[in-house]
Amino acid sequence: MACSQFEYVKQYETDDRLLPGCWIVLRLDGKGFTKFCELHCFEKPNDVRALCLMDASAQAVMREFQDIRLAFGESDEYSFVFPRECQLYGRRCSKLVSLVASCFTASYVRLWPQHLPDKPLAATPLFDARAVLYPSDRTLRDYLSWRQADTHINNLYNTCFWALVKSGKTNTEAHAQLQGTLADYKNELLFSQFGLNYNALPERFRKGSVVIRQRVKHVKQTADGRSKEKERLEPCVLHCDIIRDHFWQQHAELLA
Ligand code: ATP
Ligand code: ATP
Ligand code: MG
Ligand code: MG
Ligand code: MG
Ligand code: MG
Ligand code: MG
Repeated sequence: MACSQFEYVKQYETDDRLLPGCWIVLRLDGKGFTKFCELHCFEKPNDVRALCLMDASAQAVMREFQDIRLAFGESDEYSFVFPRECQLYGRRCSKLVSLVASCFTASYVRLWPQHLPDKPLAATPLFDARAVLYPSDRTLRDYLSWRQADTHINNLYNTCFWALVKSGKTNTEAHAQLQGTLADYKNELLFSQFGLNYNALPERFRKGSVVIRQRVKHVKQTADGRSKEKERLEPCVLHCDIIRDHFWQQHAELLA
């Protein structure tokens, strides 16, 4: 109802436009996923199907929001990077955060039966979301390095923890044995006690998932019934190092 006596209340809405010129990172994280994983009997330490569902939901978000430059995911979290010059929704924080979180959550629910067909969804998955601004390419790269380093630290810890628990230790005993130990100790423990070479574990577990847009060939039917090979940009999931320079040199367009 335009120009009504009530319309003044609109003025109570605050301006939450994100600072221009900065990279925008939206990070989502599953609410109470420790319990959610238990409820759905996810494999420990890594349920690969649940990780693939996270990746597929992130790809769905990137198809919906073409502005997103890249994404990084691990465990129950995903970070989406919008470019410095992005003008989507006038950079309004609440619009961006709420739309990306709901798109991700809705996709997670929609795609669940494809990825975990034998497990009915038994709770409502929820994801919190926040926006963080990074003023330089360096701080953005350091942010992404921080998340990938976190993937490695958590995965090494969780791999040891669940190896100990599966070998008969209680949770408390396993925690106590790992408390304050360094990476070398954990690698050695896995190797000598469980015959596991940490570096031979899947890259998905050790490095998380990076989603970037890449040219993918697809076959298109022409009007006269012939098929023609075409290329289009599709969000593709990679599991590779993003801390060192190599990745950024290979994909120089990401920071352009
Ligand atoms: P919060 O609501 O504060 O985020 P949370 O229980 O979700 O609480 P997190 O720190 O986000 O806590 O941890 C997520 C948990 O879910 C970790 O224990 C992680 O190992 C587990 N998890 C996430 N994805 C998987 C997966 N694919 N397979 C097995 N475990 C997973
Ligand atoms: P925006 O993305 O800017 O919100 P929008 O198309 O969603 O764009 P709104 O102003 O939110 O625009 O309007 C929602 C539209 O959906 C209106 O046209 C409204 O009449 C229609 N609509 C919403 N719910 C119903 C419903 N239950 N039955 C019929 N029409 C509906
Ligand atoms: Mg409306
Ligand atoms: Mg959290
Ligand atoms: Mg969580
Ligand atoms: Mg988490
Ligand atoms: Mg609307």
